[in-house]
Amino acid sequence: MLNKSETVYTIDSLIQKILDDEKQYDLSKIISAYEFAAKAHANQVRSSGEPYITHPVAVAYILLELGMDTDTICAALLHDVVEDTDTTLEELRKLFGQDVAMLVDGVTKLGKIPLFTKEEQQAENVRKILLAMSQDIRVIIIKLCDRLHNMRTLQFRPAYKQRNTALETMNIYAPIAHRLGIRTIKDEIEDLAFRYLDPYAYAEIEQMLKIRSDERQAFINSIKEQIAKRFVEMGLPEPQMSGRVKSVYGIYRKAFIKGKGLDEVYDIYAVRIIVNTVNECYNALGIIHDMFKPIPNRFKDYIATPKANMYQSLHTTVIGREGIPFEVQIRTVDMNYTAEYGIAAHWKYKESGSGQVAAGDEAKKLSWLRQILEWQQDMSDNKEFLNAIKSDLDMFSDSVYCFT
Ligand code: MN
Repeated sequence: MLNKSETVYTIDSLIQKILDDEKQYDLSKIISAYEFAAKAHANQVRSSGEPYITHPVAVAYILLELGMDTDTICAALLHDVVEDTDTTLEELRKLFGQDVAMLVDGVTKLGKIPLFTKEEQQAENVRKILLAMSQDIRVIIIKLCDRLHNMRTLQFRPAYKQRNTALETMNIYAPIAHRLGIRTIKDEIEDLAFRYLDPYAYAEIEQMLKIRSDERQAFINSIKEQIAKRFVEMGLPEPQMSGRVKSVYGIYRKAFIKGKGLDEVYDIYAVRIIVNTVNECYNALGIIHDMFKPIPNRFKDYIATPKANMYQSLHTTVIGREGIPFEVQIRTVDMNYTAEYGIAAHWKYKESGSGQVAAGDEAKKLSWLRQILEWQQDMSDNKEFLNAIKSDLDMFSDSVYCFT
């Protein structure tokens, strides 16, 4: 994460990434947007001393990693020109079309909502953001990437700014990223914000993770080998597997907020198994429970009961040979896209060649949006609403599912 804050993204690296992408982009439109923005911001510098244009380029790069479309990339490159230069929306509309102009306008307006205020007003702000989002969800996705890059480069800002921005990120942007299911962004902005809000706790957890990290990696690798071997013995194709370390803030939440010792956080390390069908998920679960002893009450079926942000997966915690507990997450390829990219998966895996993922995608995106808006209307008072987004993550954490 720290190395990302030192990376300076250039237009060349952006172009290279576009060329390498299997998705089709309108490269000449993106280059025009870059040239326009570079000219408009020509004499401006960031707090780091770098030319201002490095910021919109970095935001565009992050959006490209999420798999967003040409207009979103163009809008990212242009997202600060109306706010910070003489450029008008009318100019953008003429040069880059209605969609790009509308996205830039949305991001500019979002930037004007005074966010760092009293708790009651904070909820009202989140409401405004969600309302803006309901017109075109790409606006908030650009805003989240803008915030991510600002968080990555926060060390160049004065101390009071760091604290305010980190608080706002923790209280408003991380819950929105979570709500949209964009785990990659949520985890990173949350960890970055946590580093500024509680540097001592952050350092302590980071240090704890470093200790014996080689041993733990070896442990996870041996688990993965055992699972692969068993699948092959049973005549099944070897599943796609990955090891996962919980985010620093994720560990903090579990250990400190829930008053558990670090030894009791069973899912610091997890093995993820990715298969093709829902049937194969339950089949894999059976194999895992046959191989390792499950810890009672630690099984969760988020396939049958998805989380509010559409997350689907089976979770179970089992005990390995050395008596060390670890979590196993089992899901399909599609579920994994949704788990990583949330609503952005809609853009990332649309038009991506195979076409399989795209089936029913539009409907899924719409139902997602509807759920968010319904959930927003349900919350009658602001405080309740704010608590709801903050506690979203825990929504089902106390549920226990039984299966025979
Ligand atoms: Mn910006």
